[in-house]
Amino acid sequence: MRRIVAAVVLAAQFACPPVVNAAPLPPVSPQARAAGLIDVRSVVPDAVIDLRYATTNNFVGLPLYPPDARCLVHESLGPGLAAAAAQLRAQGYTLVFWDCYRPHEVQVRMFNAVPDPAWVAKPGDYARSHEAARSVDVTLAAGGHLVDMGTDFDDFSPRATAYATEGVSAQQQANRALLRNAMAAGGLAVYSGEWWHFDGPGAGTPRPILDVPVN
Ligand SMILES: [Zn+2]
Repeated sequence: MRRIVAAVVLAAQFACPPVVNAAPLPPVSPQARAAGLIDVRSVVPDAVIDLRYATTNNFVGLPLYPPDARCLVHESLGPGLAAAAAQLRAQGYTLVFWDCYRPHEVQVRMFNAVPDPAWVAKPGDYARSHEAARSVDVTLAAGGHLVDMGTDFDDFSPRATAYATEGVSAQQQANRALLRNAMAAGGLAVYSGEWWHFDGPGAGTPRPILDVPVN
C-alpha cells in the first residue's frame, strides 16, 4: 500500500501540464512592456509553463500569484533562452519554467515564510534576480514527463545544490549538467545553491523595484 501511494505521488510530481502554444500570445501589460519584459513563450514557443507559485504546490502552500500569471522575463534574456531551448530541442528536451519574474511583494511573503537567505533571497530596497526579471527557475521535460533531477523544485536540502553528489545519482547529475550546459550556451549561469536557478546577464545588479503585475 505504501508503495502504491509513493508511486501516485511521484506520478503527480512529474506530470507535465499540457503545452498550449497554438493560440497567439496576448500582449503583455503596458507596465511590463515599459519595463522591457516579454512573455517567455515569445522566444521559446514550446516552453512548458508551470508557475508553481500560482498554485498551492509550493513551499508556502498557498498561491502567491494570480491564476493567470505569466512567465515574464527581461528582453535581455530572450536570445539566450532561445539558444538554450534550441540546443535542448535538438536533443529531444523541452524547457519547463517554474518561476520567472517575481513581484517584490511576493518576495517579501516568501522571505517571511522561510527567513533564510541561503534559500530565499532577502528582499531589499532594490530589485535583483527574479525581482528584476533577470533570473529563471527551470527544469527539463522529455516525452511529456519531467526529467529526473534528483529533487523537486524548492527542495531546501543539500541535494538541491547544483553540484551535489551525495544522494544524487550519476544519471541525475548528468541530467543537471545537460541543463546547465544548454543554459550556459545561452549565457545563463546556474546558482550553485539551486540546480534549477539560472541568472541572466546583469541579474545581480541592483535596479529600481519593478511595479509590474505578473499577469
Ligand atoms: Zn530562482
